[in-house]
Amino acid sequence: MSVALIFSPQFLNHRTPPGHPERVERGEVMQKVVDAWKQRGGVAQEPRPATRVELGRVHSDRHLAIIDQTAGRAVSLDPDTATSPESRDVALLAAGAAIGGVEAMVQSRATRVMALVRPPGHHAERERAMGFCLYNNVAVAAAHALTLGMERVVIIDYDVHHGNGTQWIFYEDPRVLYISTHQYPFYPGTGAAEDVGRGRGAGFTLNVPMEAGATDGDYQNVFTALVIPVIDQFRPELVMISAGFDAHERDPLARMRVSTPGYAMLTKSLCDASDRHCHGRVVAVTEGGYDLTALKACLESTISVFDGAAAPQTSDLLGPSTRSKTAIAAVRAAQGNYWKI
Ligand SMILES: [Zn+2]
Repeated sequence: MSVALIFSPQFLNHRTPPGHPERVERGEVMQKVVDAWKQRGGVAQEPRPATRVELGRVHSDRHLAIIDQTAGRAVSLDPDTATSPESRDVALLAAGAAIGGVEAMVQSRATRVMALVRPPGHHAERERAMGFCLYNNVAVAAAHALTLGMERVVIIDYDVHHGNGTQWIFYEDPRVLYISTHQYPFYPGTGAAEDVGRGRGAGFTLNVPMEAGATDGDYQNVFTALVIPVIDQFRPELVMISAGFDAHERDPLARMRVSTPGYAMLTKSLCDASDRHCHGRVVAVTEGGYDLTALKACLESTISVFDGAAAPQTSDLLGPSTRSKTAIAAVRAAQGNYWKI
């Protein structure tokens, strides 16, 4: 597999208020990971900014105007989401990095691509910045894949938070299957198993809400019972990952217990699915992950898995609790009409 990373040093120029978890130091961790990858001879490229046309596929003109107006200023867009003078330009590059992943894939320059970006994107809705996110990077990239002729794109969002923005943007669109595992109830409040999509998109949103405390084994169980079988039935042409690492046991915001090998196991199962359906094509775009040690370890292990590392030993994983059973039952009840699970 050919692996490429996409990163810009400008991602360090988005500054959040003191004490904010989505902080510049996260960008410094990304920079270190990318530098180490390059030193080993790995390919890394710099993104271009997303264009207005590309953003306009998933965001309203009004939203784009609101973000444009933050250029050169520090603005509070919601209680969690603030800009610094350069944030708008940085966010354009973050969305452009996600697009670059899709373009690298389509032009056969790489099979597995990881865009290491900030600010993150999955909470940004068509018309609203929210939850540290200005533009919905992964949604912009998925929409780009559709315009390039793809008809089935799956986005797996294993960030600990539900990606409300991504869900709503594609809620009525059967071409983009959105699958999210998340702590529930939790911020942002959405992500019930019963929310399955609407109209022609019914069945193409798969929410897997899990109680706080879910372990590697719980995540493994829901992937084996739900996520992977649904991907296999969907037969994607491209696998995208909203790669948030805040379900990690070290994360300060959430209360899940996924280890670094646990995340590697999830990523490996998605890579294996991409091998079955779409020549191994995977584009990962970073989302959350607020413990710097865990973020670094998970970025490195994701890249290793992309580069062909074997799945971690089961003995390195924390076994399941009852939380996966409850989640699997709820999802089967909600999705039984749409998928054999
Ligand atoms: Zn998150």
